[in-house]
Formats: sequence, structure tokens, C-alpha cells
Amino acid sequence: MKKGSKHSEESRKKLSLSHKGKPMLPQTRLAILKANLGRKCTDETKRKIGLANSVALKGYKHSEITKQKISLSKKGKLPKNIDSIKGWNKGLGNKTPQALIIRNSLEYKLWRKAVFKRDNWTCQECKQKGGELHADHIKPFALFPELRFAINNGRTLCVSCHRNTPTWGHKSRIYVKNNRCDNVQRREGNLGLEI
Ligand SMILES: [Zn+2]
Repeated sequence: MKKGSKHSEESRKKLSLSHKGKPMLPQTRLAILKANLGRKCTDETKRKIGLANSVALKGYKHSEITKQKISLSKKGKLPKNIDSIKGWNKGLGNKTPQALIIRNSLEYKLWRKAVFKRDNWTCQECKQKGGELHADHIKPFALFPELRFAINNGRTLCVSCHRNTPTWGHKSRIYVKNNRCDNVQRREGNLGLEI
């Protein structure tokens, strides 16, 4: 084909039909990319591209492999909103990054949900139902890592009752300090806690 000459309307249609459903060749993709380099889309074009993508992606689901990859890549990583979480946790300022990772893990979320469900979303202290609820670790999170996801070690508390626990906020640090030795002894003596 001569340089600069254009396909007729009919041959364009034929080409378009013959290419439908076929993946683009890498060199074609590159050629298009090069041709469009530095060209700016009008707002109208941008809108059209957005629309075409939203239609093409409608109902699109990640494959199992992709899901696994995403899940793996997220594992052990700090959440993106770590700063806002830290800010949100100001009252619980003693949380280490590792504790934050655990608190944002799926296991932790499931544990919380299971505790709320068992307690029927009712504060175990004042019996208030609903509202802002916390899942409290009866045996503190920091001292009993093995009980972090034990449903029996969780209880539903409303925010104000949670504030009154000896492990709320800065009190938790003192509590951990005072109980650490005690805990080691208790653990050696095998507490016999159900998990
Ligand atoms: Zn309460």
C-alpha cells in the first residue's frame, strides 16, 4: 500500500470485521502508540474512551490466579491508609506496626465479626445493642499472641465500656508492663485456656 493513501470506506469495514475478536499484534500496538505519541485527546474523546472501557470492563472479574496474586501481594504489607489508621488509633498509641498489620488482616476482621455475632452485637458490660462496638481481647492482644484470634478471648464492648477497661489506650502499656512476668509464669503453668 502506498504511503499516505487511505483505505476506502468498504475496505476499512472489511478490515475492521476481519480484525474483530482478534488480539492486536504487539507491533501494531506499538505502531499505534507511536502514532499517537504527543497527541492530546479532546475531552469528547476522553469521555468516549472512558465509556468504552467501562462497557468493556463491565462484569469483569479477576481470575482465581489474579485474586491469589493480589492477596499474596497484600499479605504482610502495611495498609495504604496506615497514617489515617494511626491517627484514628491515637487513643491506642502503643500499637506497633505489626499489631496494625494484624488488626487489618482478614483473620482479625473475621474474628471481630464472629465475636459480634456471638454476642448479638450487644455490649457485654452495659448490654447496649448496636452503636459503635469494639471487639475487646479479654486476655490482651500484646500479652497473649496465641489468643489473638480465639473467639473465646473476645467480647463485644461499646466504646464507653471499652474505655473503662484496664487495657484501653495508654493504660494498656502499664497493664502489659505489670503483667508480663506474671503472664510468663501463667503460661508456663499452662493456663488451660480454651482456644
Ligand atoms: Zn457498654
